[in-house]
Amino acid sequence: MTILLFDIDGTLSTSQGAGTQAMTRTFKQLWGIDNALKGMNFAGRSDSWIVPTALSNQGRDCTPEDIARFIDHYVPHLGDAVEERNSRLCPGVLPLLGALTKENVTLGLGTGNFRRAAEAKLRPFGIWDYFIDGGFGDDHPDRTQLLAAGLERLRRHSTDGADAVVIGDTSHDIEAGHAIGAKVVAVRTGYAQPGDLDNADAILDDLSNLEASLSALLD
Ligand SMILES: [Mg+2]
Repeated sequence: MTILLFDIDGTLSTSQGAGTQAMTRTFKQLWGIDNALKGMNFAGRSDSWIVPTALSNQGRDCTPEDIARFIDHYVPHLGDAVEERNSRLCPGVLPLLGALTKENVTLGLGTGNFRRAAEAKLRPFGIWDYFIDGGFGDDHPDRTQLLAAGLERLRRHSTDGADAVVIGDTSHDIEAGHAIGAKVVAVRTGYAQPGDLDNADAILDDLSNLEASLSALLD
């Protein structure tokens, strides 16, 4: 059995800036901060890294209560933004997930999104329920730690000794995937700069070639 941990942004879907728009609105609403994310490079970073970092840039502390308040306000904004920005699934995602349900795999998420934000991004496309569980931004700001938490959860749904595969679009996915002992399949549908994906075990332009995608994930 193979445990698959899919990244979301740039891998399963492209939100067309929906997350940034929703976060920017939330920082403004809660703390009166304009353009809180301006100038930050947060591709592949977790939500629980982004929020304290943006607050720190304003000279503010970030408490667990601040994070909880942020999530409560961010998720509704995100739902609106996903619609407004015409977020969409990356090519081939839907057929691939359908095909994977017939394979000996456990489908999971490994994403820096807060769990409720992940749901807000995937449910509109009808793919949230494909994923049994996962690691999320709520688990830890560091991607390696949140992937490890996700893998531990997913192992409870799998037979012992299951191999893990991380699917992502940035160097952060690759480093963190290797750090938890997973094979990493990178896709070029996201936010990578040239050279970023060189250390991946396999690289796909996108997931639209079903046969090539299944073979990269499962062989
Ligand atoms: Mg990503």
